Amino acid sequence: MISNRIGRLELSPTLRINAKAKAMKAEGIDVIDFSVGEPDFPTPANIKDAGIKAINDNFTGYTANDGIPELKTAIRNRLREDHGLDYKPGEIIVSSGAKQSLYNICVAAINRDEEVIIPAPYWVSYPQMVLMVKGKPVIVPTKEENGFRLTPEELKANISFNTKAIILNNPSNPTGSGYPLDWLEEVCEVAAAEGLLIIADEIYEKVVYDDYRFHSIASLSDKIKERTVLVNGVSKAYSMTGWRIGYAAGPRELVNAMGIVQSHTTSNANSIAQKAAAEALSGPQSEISQMVAEFRTRRNYMLNKLRRIPGVSCHEPEGAFYLFPNAASYYNTEYRGMKIRNSYGLSYFLLKEAAVAIVPGSAFGSEDHIRLSYATSMDKIEEGTDRIIEAMAKLKESPKYKRIALQNVMTHPRGATEANTAVGIEERDALVQEAEANLPYDRYFEWNANINGIIIQLRTNVPHLYDFWVENWYPAQLEADLEPHGIIYAVDGVPGRTPYGYYCPEMKTAVLFNTSYYGQVRSWALGMVAQASERMLDVHGVRAACLDYDGKGLALIGPKGLGRGSTFSRMLEDGEASFVTNDWVFVRYRGSDAVADAPERKFYIKTSVAKNLPRYTRIFDRSKCENVVTNRADWTNMKELVDECPLDLGEPYCYWGAKDSRAMVDPAWIGGPARCVKRTRLKTVALLHHEPNGPAIEPLDPETALDYVTEGKYRYPTGAGMSPYQVQPFFNPYMLGSSADQEDLQRRNFHQLLRVAKAYKVNVGAIPPEALKARIRELV
Ligand code: PMP
Repeated sequence: MISNRIGRLELSPTLRINAKAKAMKAEGIDVIDFSVGEPDFPTPANIKDAGIKAINDNFTGYTANDGIPELKTAIRNRLREDHGLDYKPGEIIVSSGAKQSLYNICVAAINRDEEVIIPAPYWVSYPQMVLMVKGKPVIVPTKEENGFRLTPEELKANISFNTKAIILNNPSNPTGSGYPLDWLEEVCEVAAAEGLLIIADEIYEKVVYDDYRFHSIASLSDKIKERTVLVNGVSKAYSMTGWRIGYAAGPRELVNAMGIVQSHTTSNANSIAQKAAAEALSGPQSEISQMVAEFRTRRNYMLNKLRRIPGVSCHEPEGAFYLFPNAASYYNTEYRGMKIRNSYGLSYFLLKEAAVAIVPGSAFGSEDHIRLSYATSMDKIEEGTDRIIEAMAKLKESPKYKRIALQNVMTHPRGATEANTAVGIEERDALVQEAEANLPYDRYFEWNANINGIIIQLRTNVPHLYDFWVENWYPAQLEADLEPHGIIYAVDGVPGRTPYGYYCPEMKTAVLFNTSYYGQVRSWALGMVAQASERMLDVHGVRAACLDYDGKGLALIGPKGLGRGSTFSRMLEDGEASFVTNDWVFVRYRGSDAVADAPERKFYIKTSVAKNLPRYTRIFDRSKCENVVTNRADWTNMKELVDECPLDLGEPYCYWGAKDSRAMVDPAWIGGPARCVKRTRLKTVALLHHEPNGPAIEPLDPETALDYVTEGKYRYPTGAGMSPYQVQPFFNPYMLGSSADQEDLQRRNFHQLLRVAKAYKVNVGAIPPEALKARIRELV
């Protein structure tokens, strides 16, 4: 993956809701959109004309980096006229939207690790911007009963030696709250006295209601003005969001630095839009009050309706065009199986059930709330709020069940390491010495597993590996003077080593450095046992999922990525088959019998099966797990990220978010103890492949089947980013550094198997899984 310096980027919840709303609209569903953050009025005619004139006058070249003098004068005049503020031209900079001004401030003023206080609920971009410059956002929650306003005490309590700045957004997006004059003074006096930079986002200053009087922070006192940078723009007041003009006014030194940043990134804001913005700020201002009057009517209507929903409370906004109701009393409800656990879940429910798009409060740092914008027509507001009321009335309290904490370990790395499987004896001795030196006596685990009669010892300092190992295998009792047949060292925290595996075939010794991933320990153990048992015991190790039908065994053999595990699980669902193994058997040939034994006590199962078979969720809840996703940042199945994610819907974990997510499962929990057998006689072998236009089932004679198995050459579904052919002899990735004699043994053993069991090529690409399952069942 391409690395980035701000950590894994995540699509904001707003965008995810929007993407879903768009998809629904494309399907012809009439979605009412309360998620928008811009006025629904056209830019006033005089402003548009100024833009058109700029084009006709060929005012289309670069301008001064910090803005055209005409616009800077208009900004200065507006600040003087509206707030009695005096700014010199060098203290003003024009940028491409208020957003760019805010970001330029962060780049110019915030050093690595410096803290920026951000009262929550906050506008979505503030913490992200601070993170992008490697600063530390310090989120300070405000109280709803304080109208979401920060108190001076809350501010004081959060200032540290590292605090550089505070971002105040008045009036606020998303809450609509406006600070009264005395409150604002008290907060800003604390900030100024502590020497903070006050970043004042006043983009909604003109959108205020009733008797609320807006005061610009810089106008509070000279002392405060010296420490304040005002951010404003024409987007909201003049319906000019797409024109992209914003500005900042503040201390000359800071504004200069912002100019340098801008000169190296975007240069001047759009020349035509600057002319239009100059007209906006200096021309007639009457359209603003008409727009605000309209917003006020809508606000009152929407507010009254939302407040009548049982259990919902809502602050009456002083400004902006959003309502931010508290809907937390709905977070333990459900309707037709859709459970609501948080603000995203409620937003998702309203989108699906009411076809209304809103933004979850979690996007603004407040899980208890949702945000609705009333910057849309009165008709839509009437219809949309009716739909919300109707949908929320359907939500009924859902029974609470307490989920026990999942036993889950995130491994590092998340999958198998690179390896050298042809280590000589001398190198082996050195590796063992190094491994032993890094196994401290007080963090050392050793356990002997009996894997189909072969004894493998694990020596490790990783509790998780020990835990899974002991759970996975039957125990082997060793007499004091007996030695295991093979040893696996799995040692973490070895200095100077990257995750890597070594195997010495002569000494049957494996050394794994700096990995805590169990999958590799298990597959190496099976590979070691297969080698030993084929040579010593004439027992055939076969990578297969096996089911038993009244004593008749079915083996599913196939490559990675062809749904062997899911076919296996689906076949078990019918209740006819017994569970033998999901991955591996050892087979002995006795006359016309192929007796297959499952070596594992518990089974290491991909948890992604829970996506199609939800009952597995309950089984995994009780099992020991590895790499189950409990945090969005741990997702590896990126394509699912924008779709229904259980984490978004309030589930504490997701079983299919990661490719290497496994559980150690007792097979008795899947179908009951009566449907578990350790031994079967293989009668049918299904060789999985993928051929979209081929026949579903093809019987094979033993020789053809043997060639097919030996070659291990198969087709992957194309377009999955995989090569169309892969070669893996005997479909067995566990063979540790296969040698010629070992391949001969495998071939001889498979020959025996295919003489006593009937082989079929089974095409997973031909028919849907349920139909395929029935066809395979007929073969037994
Ligand atoms: N600040 C706040 C609080 C906003 O809501 C927005 C727009 N949603 C902006 C800044 C950005 O405004 P502009 O379009 O000028 O970049």
